[in-house]
Amino acid sequence: MKILVTGGAGYIGSHTVDKLLQMGLDVVVVDNLATGHKSSVPEDVPFYEIDIRDQVALSNVFDEHNIDAVVHFAAKSLVNESMNKPLDYFDNNTYGMISLLEVMNKYNVKKIVFSSSASTYGIPKNIPVKEEDEQNPINPYGLTKLQMEQIMHWADLAYDIKGVALRYFNVAGAKIDGSIGEDHNPETHLVPNILLAAQGKKDKIIIFGNDYNTPDGFNVRDYVHVVDLANAHYLAINYLMNENSSNYFNLGSKIGFSVKQMVDAAILETGIDIPNEIGPRRAGDPDSLVADSTKAQNILGWKPELTDVKTIIQTAWNWMQKHPDGYGDK
Ligand code: UDP
Repeated sequence: MKILVTGGAGYIGSHTVDKLLQMGLDVVVVDNLATGHKSSVPEDVPFYEIDIRDQVALSNVFDEHNIDAVVHFAAKSLVNESMNKPLDYFDNNTYGMISLLEVMNKYNVKKIVFSSSASTYGIPKNIPVKEEDEQNPINPYGLTKLQMEQIMHWADLAYDIKGVALRYFNVAGAKIDGSIGEDHNPETHLVPNILLAAQGKKDKIIIFGNDYNTPDGFNVRDYVHVVDLANAHYLAINYLMNENSSNYFNLGSKIGFSVKQMVDAAILETGIDIPNEIGPRRAGDPDSLVADSTKAQNILGWKPELTDVKTIIQTAWNWMQKHPDGYGDK
């Protein structure tokens, strides 16, 4: 079975490529390398540096390979950036999905696993968040992910393209052996930023606000290990291959940690007194975002195994120590 992974040179994409190869699937990667790293893709995996909005280039990949299903990561993913450059997000993400589905339909490829996001819920009314809760995004990034889910829905009705949307909560950690990991430039995410401060590459980690409506006042997120997340994509492919109908799932661990708890855990795991400071809130951050992933467990058979925050931090730290300059290409 051959799987096309768009955005397979990115953080979650590369871990998913690794998982699919381990499970014996053939993989083809397309990535425009806007944020991805070519060296995160194994050399024997066919790689195409193309943008999915380029339908001619994308069609050539489908001509060359008999693709059975697509796992679609290629998208922009920063909330703040999306507030400043919303049109880039609608073009890259929303139109990117349209372009991909058009080419898939042309080549009669009828299965897609899509990396959606908890940001489609906006400020959730209930914690933990369930799949049927209202989706009401509060930034262009979340809106594009919701639009992409909706486009998939109509493409299913019209063209019978079956899709699974996986709504991620906060992804962190790295492959256990430290061979691949997270490398963004600039880095905005909490766990790598805490560890950059541990490495001395940042002066300090700024904690965004301490007046949230949570037990310790720091905002709470649900951190899910990237290897567990990669496994969910493999299970979602199997689900579609078994001719199931389109579906959507939350992926988290149902356990929330506050930003302060994450900083304290990193201090404990690294043995470094990581400099930290409380700063103002970041715009658009809900108090708490925690997933109910029971549906993924029941229907996909997803059992996250690396749920301990210690493991998330240890594996991210291991990757950073082995690769102090990341992939060294940006
Ligand atoms: N955060 C923080 N300092 C940072 C980066 C993030 O305090 O330098 C907080 C942020 O307010 C949020 C959590 O860490 O509560 C996770 O943020 P991240 O950007 O990693 O993921 P997001 O929740 O935006 O997807």
